[in-house]
Amino acid sequence: MAKRILVAAICAAAITSSAMANHLDPKNPSGTIVDRFADIEVLRYTVPGFNELPLDRKLFIYYLTEAALAGRDILWDQNGKYNLALRQIAEGIYRNYDGNRDDKNFKAFETYLKQIEFGNGAYHHYSTDKFTPGFTQNWFEGQLINLMKKNPEVAKNISPDEGRMVMRLIFDPAFMPKRVNQAEGADLILTSANNLYEGVTQKEVEEYFNAKKDPNDKTPISYGLNTKVVKENGKVKELPYKIGGLYSAAIERIVENLNKALPYAETEKQRNSIIELIKYYTTGDLRTFDTYSILWTEDTTPVVDFINGFIESYGDPLGMTGAWESIVNFKNAKASERTETISNAAQWFEDRSPVDPRFRKPEVKGVSAKVINAAILAGDAYPSTPIGINLPNANWIRASHGSKSVTIENITQAYDDASHGNGFNEEFVIDQPTRDLLDKYLFITDNLHTDLHECLGHGSGQLLPGVDPDALKAHGSTLEETRADLFALYYLADPHLLELGLLDNPDAYKAEYYKYMLNGLMTQLMRIEPGKDVEEAHMRNRKLIAEWALEHGKKDNVVELVTKNGKTYVKINDYRRLRELFGKLLAEIQRIKSEGDYAAGAKLVEQYAVKVDPKLHREVLDRYAKLSIAPYKGFVNPVYTPVLDDKGRIIDIDVTYEEDYLPQMFRYSDNYSPLTRK
Ligand code: ZN
Repeated sequence: MAKRILVAAICAAAITSSAMANHLDPKNPSGTIVDRFADIEVLRYTVPGFNELPLDRKLFIYYLTEAALAGRDILWDQNGKYNLALRQIAEGIYRNYDGNRDDKNFKAFETYLKQIEFGNGAYHHYSTDKFTPGFTQNWFEGQLINLMKKNPEVAKNISPDEGRMVMRLIFDPAFMPKRVNQAEGADLILTSANNLYEGVTQKEVEEYFNAKKDPNDKTPISYGLNTKVVKENGKVKELPYKIGGLYSAAIERIVENLNKALPYAETEKQRNSIIELIKYYTTGDLRTFDTYSILWTEDTTPVVDFINGFIESYGDPLGMTGAWESIVNFKNAKASERTETISNAAQWFEDRSPVDPRFRKPEVKGVSAKVINAAILAGDAYPSTPIGINLPNANWIRASHGSKSVTIENITQAYDDASHGNGFNEEFVIDQPTRDLLDKYLFITDNLHTDLHECLGHGSGQLLPGVDPDALKAHGSTLEETRADLFALYYLADPHLLELGLLDNPDAYKAEYYKYMLNGLMTQLMRIEPGKDVEEAHMRNRKLIAEWALEHGKKDNVVELVTKNGKTYVKINDYRRLRELFGKLLAEIQRIKSEGDYAAGAKLVEQYAVKVDPKLHREVLDRYAKLSIAPYKGFVNPVYTPVLDDKGRIIDIDVTYEEDYLPQMFRYSDNYSPLTRK
């Protein structure tokens, strides 16, 4: 299920708020650009408040960050069978290279290496398309031969067969071309290059799980979440990720550090949840994972919190297997007042939601919401990271135990800090009054949109009895994100936000409305290559909403695309009517979800969310190119170092923000790579 918020590079890029001026401290590295290559910008984030934490909390965080880093190889391997071999070869060549660093092939190779480090493998983190090398096969082969001679350890780790496969992976565009294929009609398993399935067809996988599922089970496990599905002796079977199973060496290191963290747990519930997590990693039992998830969800009081496991399933075209990730964080008390206000009013919002009353939740269960600062990002949350998370994903746990929702403020802060004066608003926003509106209110309304989407949107509404939660199939993620976004958009314009003290101007919401329509209709297209469709669920959802509103507002001229000096601009003529349209579409999407109306959902997605107008697309790309803003951003982590006294006891944890992008990757490969040593 789709419970994570990805920043539209655009929303961050669009923020040029003067209200942010207080973050322009030259000594504060938040938002500093560490590296820039291909379509990527790597930024630094800082961890405000870490130094002020008591030693026990710092130690707790430290061991949890070690547990986070220990899982890095798992995600690389999940993302593709030859990724770990590719990384060892590519890093080996780069680190052993003693030729001319201005050489054209070397330069292109350096970019390629940075790309695969960012994608945790051979594929773009967002489009999931395979990277294209800009260096020649000849050059690379020469480097590889050199490496094998100079560095026998790499030669020992990589079998000749793996070496050949890595060559094909890099240079044969038709070989394993896409990590996650969502194209309607294809066998999504056979045509996806991820390493979550092997030797099985989509039909076989679906039959296998259908036979296991009991439609009357009110508390189903998350089938396939922590397994690779293979065929052995003609029979489909699952290989669990666990100690003694797949990825054992990495999981052992995770568990070792969870055990070290355990004495510092803040509450009994937190202690028990960590014990259950360890048990789950040891046995691979998904019932234990549910027990852990419930304890974790109900434990809302600790300052320090973390996720560590197989969580989100975007990397699986069937949406079952979880990509390994970890985020360690602690509460930002001041900023959390905002989300607490929203979640305390959850029932108020639910009762007034513009959907058929049958689809409303009679009782919204504890949506706990807080604002956090991330201490480390790892696995699927690194280097590209979400700005908000809402977990757990299991529907029945959410219904009976609620969910935890967070906004990661030091990450959104770093995005904002990085976006000053990049010229985006001047290029794409229609006029000065609208730019002024964005300057003044986009930061707060964008944060509120995230809060509302996470705390209320995903948790709102209910399925009619007997409706299969997976009924919307391949369109489930897109429609779920659409629903959460519409809920947030609809309520952002509600006067109740002023009554709650969350906004101080009844027109503030217009800033987010303008940015949302601009992004959905135009500027997010800069992330799509010419000629390609929109594929990623969040991008589809934004396009669906914006295009639908444009078309359905036509007769009343609610929103239009106008041309000035040969450039296209979004013009919103009637913000109140636009809100009504958002409410209307929310009612329909909720109906589709509640009734499991696959046909209607598929029709909306296909009609509004996928196809790109090539002329407008070209214009956006050209205008964007002139600004030289990277479409995608990610982060390097801080470095945590224990400070020891003369008896070797840890007396403090030091945090620094100086490590660069590739050095960080190489350090991780050297110190946190249990799956690459043979
Ligand atoms: Zn979401």
